[in-house]
Amino acid sequence: MDIEQFRKAGYQAIDRICEYYYSLHNRPVISKVEPGYLKEHIPLTAPEEGEDFQVIADDFQKFIVPGLTHWQHPSFFGYFPTACTFEGMIADLYATSACNPGFNWSSSPASTELEALVMDWACQLLGLSPEFLNSSGVGGGAIQNTASDSALIAAVAARSLYQRNYPEVSLQDLVIYTTTQTHSLGVKAGLVLGLSVHVLEVKAEDQFSLRGETLQAALHEDEKLGKRPFILIATVGTTSSGAIDNLPEIQQIAKNYPSLWVHVDAAWAGVALSCPENRERCHLNTINEFADSFCTNFHKWGLVNFDASTLWVRDRKHLTDALDVTPPFLRTKHGDAGTVIDYRNWHLALGRRFRSLKLWFVLRSFGAEGFRNYIRKASPLSISLNQVFADFVTKSETLSLVTPPSLALTVFRLDPKPKSLDQPPLSLESLNNLNRLFYGRISARNDILLTQTVLNGVHCIRFAVGAARTEAPHIQQACDLLCKEADLTLEAWEQ
Ligand code: PLP
Repeated sequence: MDIEQFRKAGYQAIDRICEYYYSLHNRPVISKVEPGYLKEHIPLTAPEEGEDFQVIADDFQKFIVPGLTHWQHPSFFGYFPTACTFEGMIADLYATSACNPGFNWSSSPASTELEALVMDWACQLLGLSPEFLNSSGVGGGAIQNTASDSALIAAVAARSLYQRNYPEVSLQDLVIYTTTQTHSLGVKAGLVLGLSVHVLEVKAEDQFSLRGETLQAALHEDEKLGKRPFILIATVGTTSSGAIDNLPEIQQIAKNYPSLWVHVDAAWAGVALSCPENRERCHLNTINEFADSFCTNFHKWGLVNFDASTLWVRDRKHLTDALDVTPPFLRTKHGDAGTVIDYRNWHLALGRRFRSLKLWFVLRSFGAEGFRNYIRKASPLSISLNQVFADFVTKSETLSLVTPPSLALTVFRLDPKPKSLDQPPLSLESLNNLNRLFYGRISARNDILLTQTVLNGVHCIRFAVGAARTEAPHIQQACDLLCKEADLTLEAWEQ
């Protein structure tokens, strides 16, 4: 493809993307294809001769689009949203056109400098302490692929710090602390690093948040066993229920264990810190006072196209001490002089994408106030879309909340009120079976997407608001549909 052919194909691609977005609300949210469908359309080996690009572009429409789950659909309430924007898409196009793996300053000065600057913008937008600013020269932030990478990097830095401080301690004794509600990234970090993970229990009555006393008990227990907990992965906004670990209590305990690194995973909820009214409940002050590292994904609720996981550390030296490997071919004048950031030493790979461009485009285009308003549309404390849904559940005769709504997430289940006073309530097992049936019905539909979870043995369903195109009528539609499915489930159950 030459430059003029690219121009033509590019215009066509943008036209088709616009048509896709115009028609999105009329499409099914979930693809109807069966496993293996693509093999019927795409050969098992690459073509020997190059093909005409128009045929390739048409095949994208014919074979790939039907197999997509439409995460930008206004009735997408599953997992957590990936709220992308056209600004982010254009930024990604520019970034990929420059195609510059900016691993150190010299390899593409604009990539490094923009990343350092916009990470400081984001740091201030979220109200994080100035200690996390790149301009502090001590702390700093970098964009990682995902929150899982961010947690792994934090664990690598924490392990390396611990080993430098306690060289006599065997790797076998190092322990990562997570909870039953931590995302799978905690256990995965243990798997990748070959280290043990101690999964702490959290209670339903604490709304699934980690309490100080649980942490203290675990620390005592491990001390007796000669184990060395070196990192705690705490969560602000867990995946299952949006639970927020009790960071103030954790701080009180952790201050007596200065070698315990505290990483705060706020992959989904972290961007809500942009709104001052969310800061207290998300324990921003505590994060600022004592977290060693903090991560949030702008690619979830934060309007920046996947991937943009922002990770800040209080002391960048812990990252570079753990990750700086500099063979002669990577040495540069500025790197040697220590006058620039070489981001290759802040993450696992060498090459890195030019991701700061999309964060820059989005934050400039929305402005801080526009960004906050977008978050407020979904999250409570104002009349928000999630509040509308939570109110619907609260008033429903058949549904009930499993935990209080958290920011833009509501967790609920089918929980019919007894028809008469002498009717015994359903056992947990029966309720779980009923909810499996209910979720089976919801997930068989392709006009809405919700995901399920289990909270301390209770089968429940998550409703996550935040897709960029979701408006009040889509919430109403979801309520009507869930009401109908609840009635049909109960009818089938009673037969
Ligand atoms: N942490 C939390 C709290 C999450 O909810 C998720 C995903 O939903 C993750 C981490 C994983 O994010 P990533 O896909 O960026 O690794």
